[in-house]
Amino acid sequence: PHSDKALGAGIRAAAEATAPSSKELLPRLHLIDDEKRFSDELSTYISDKWHLKNAGFNYNLAAIFGSQSTGKSTLLNRLFGTNFDVMNETARMQTTKGIWISQGIDMKVLIMDVEGTDGRERGEDQDFERKSALFSVATSEVLIVNMWEHQVGLYNGANMGLLKTVFEVNLQLFGGNRGKEKTLLLFVIRDHVGSTPLANLSSTLMADLERIWIGLSKPEGLEDCKISDYFDFMFTTLPHKLLQPEQFEIETQKLRNRFIDSKDPNYVFQPQYSKRVPADGLHVYAGAIWEKIMTNKDLDLPTQQELLAQFRCEEIANAAFVVFKDQIKEFRHPIEAGQLVEDLGPKMKQARDVAIKSFDKDASRYLPAVYQRKRTEMLTKANSMLESYFVGQLKNLHKKAVSNFAIQLQQALKVEGTEFGKVAAKTKKEAVDFFLKGAKAIKLSETDWEYEEELYQLEHDLEELTIVQREKELTKMLTGLEKLIKKELDEPVKLALDQPGPDMWGRIMTIYRRTSEDAELLLKKKARTFELTEEEEKQLLLNLKRQSWVLLTMKVQEESVDGLILYKLLNRFEEKFQRDSHGLPRVWNPTDDIDTPFRNAREETVELIPLYAKISTLDPVTDTHLTLESSDDFDFGQSLQVLSETRQQELTTQFKRKADASYVEAKRSIVATQAK
Ligand code: GDP
Ligand code: MG
Repeated sequence: PHSDKALGAGIRAAAEATAPSSKELLPRLHLIDDEKRFSDELSTYISDKWHLKNAGFNYNLAAIFGSQSTGKSTLLNRLFGTNFDVMNETARMQTTKGIWISQGIDMKVLIMDVEGTDGRERGEDQDFERKSALFSVATSEVLIVNMWEHQVGLYNGANMGLLKTVFEVNLQLFGGNRGKEKTLLLFVIRDHVGSTPLANLSSTLMADLERIWIGLSKPEGLEDCKISDYFDFMFTTLPHKLLQPEQFEIETQKLRNRFIDSKDPNYVFQPQYSKRVPADGLHVYAGAIWEKIMTNKDLDLPTQQELLAQFRCEEIANAAFVVFKDQIKEFRHPIEAGQLVEDLGPKMKQARDVAIKSFDKDASRYLPAVYQRKRTEMLTKANSMLESYFVGQLKNLHKKAVSNFAIQLQQALKVEGTEFGKVAAKTKKEAVDFFLKGAKAIKLSETDWEYEEELYQLEHDLEELTIVQREKELTKMLTGLEKLIKKELDEPVKLALDQPGPDMWGRIMTIYRRTSEDAELLLKKKARTFELTEEEEKQLLLNLKRQSWVLLTMKVQEESVDGLILYKLLNRFEEKFQRDSHGLPRVWNPTDDIDTPFRNAREETVELIPLYAKISTLDPVTDTHLTLESSDDFDFGQSLQVLSETRQQELTTQFKRKADASYVEAKRSIVATQAK
């Protein structure tokens, strides 16, 4: 092959002087090393050294191929300011082993420098040639084929072997995409002397390429496919770098422009060549492809795209979730502690939006089907994590609504004259509204969350509370009424019993009737505020009547205990026996008849005992007998009984004894007067 051995040291020195000065600045990576291992640093390089992580599709990838020592690395360094190793003149060792990758200076272009293949050192390593070709075709948008001018037309030369390989692997990968997905081959013809114009060189090359193409064994069904179905071609020449350094400089600058200026008519990175791999997924994609190639598995790019999309979407979703979880974890404690988290709805939505947005930003570049599926998955997962907060907050809203209700109702009832029914309804509505407002505020869109069940439970609880409270209020009201009744009954009943006589029970019955009528009116009035049903009201009235009656009989019993009744009887007796018709105390004279008044008074008083013994129910005002219905715990007939037979007997005996003592006393008083 052509070599620059013959060139003088002076020319070499000149060449070195024009080398890019940024050598040490541009980091390069040994992507596939001598042992054919794929570097695990690609991702770090993309993000940290080349700053392409967020570039999305906004970057390009090209690869250079060609025989060894044809100045490939030199050209790349010149074109892109890269830092690839160039053959050392004195050692003459093969420099590029495997594949190196670097970013072009100040551009979003990645270049792969692929090991030359006709190397003496590596021998006929057809295997690596094939693998690296396959890898480059699968990943790069543009393949630069670098060759000396004198290699053009050498149909059996090393380059043609390489191109045959490129065609084969391209068919293998994109065979099914005939006419749709093309690879650009850019031929750079080096050390162009100028005697043969580019047009001639390119048509010679094209003719050779066509011959190779025809000679290829094609997959079934693609027997008649054309080279132009799969490839676009560009040809360019460069002058001898050392012999025409200035010309070389000018031409490389022109060539450089094709890689960076999208307005250049020969711009190489046309959108149709894109491999549709976002920058943040390149390491996964390239790594997976190399892995497939190394294990000699069928390399199927659509599947690789799918796998890439799955892998990256998963990674992106996970990263978004880390932030998401961190954002929402602050809700847990307060909710578990039963507190209401303020603005929980907007806060949850915000966290979810941020997560989805950050997912969308990176993941939307991947296969739409995979992206959409993963997005739905993510939304579902986010929603289900948030749902526990939704449910927790609902529970707390429920509790709070109940306690609000209880407190407010209590407060309202403290006010005199509050109507229970109205206040309860109003307070209940407020509690339900409070719950609904809170529940609606935390129900996120795109969820199937529901609060109806909780609402139903709440209404049920409030209903029950109302019933309990109403019962309490009713009892309170009834107790108040009873107190009133008791107050109204006690005095008149005592008075009536203190003045026994045939109309005694009649007076008491009239008192009872009036009192219970008053109470009934009062009850009816109060009952309205409790919105009682007719049946309930009837029952309450009945109870009230009975209760009034019980109070009455209790008062009667109270006034009829042993000492008291005896006292009443004796009072009565004394009045008859010891006082004259004017009510003045009698002083007995020896001539007075003591026996008759004594007997009369005693008789009369003893007759009062059976009167006291049983309540007589005739109300003289209405001339009707009072009666109440008996029940399990109330026997009306029994309630009329004040004194049992035995007690009547006992009372009679006790009374007589006292009366007799009174008689003896009277007698003695006469004797005493006589003795003076
Ligand atoms: P690679 O193996 O294809 O990457 O080739 P290198 O870039 O390492 O260069 C191989 C040798 O060719 C080095 O000694 C370079 O100085 C020399 N060289 C580089 N560019 C040119 C060129 O345009 N013309 C000639 N004749 N020699 C060149
Ligand atoms: Mg090289």
